[in-house]
Amino acid sequence: MGWNPNGAEPIMLTFDPAGLTITQRDGDACVVCHKKWPRPRIKVGVLPDNAPVHACDDCAEAVMPMPDNVPLPRRSRAALS
Ligand SMILES: [Zn+2]
Repeated sequence: MGWNPNGAEPIMLTFDPAGLTITQRDGDACVVCHKKWPRPRIKVGVLPDNAPVHACDDCAEAVMPMPDNVPLPRRSRAALS
């Protein structure tokens, strides 16, 4: 279920809508950090009904592996402050 038949898309995570706000379910807020602006643009997964779930750039990197990039060393949040 949820697989794209043409196989062109990367593997999508399936999110449990019970843990998301309406805004997140509508794709208007980042599914990870709830940030609404800038609007999350990266589709990181789907709901069980195939509605897309979005995340902001930073969270998308954390949520899903980036097959186009070499694996990044583990980044510490403390290093950002
Ligand atoms: Zn985010």
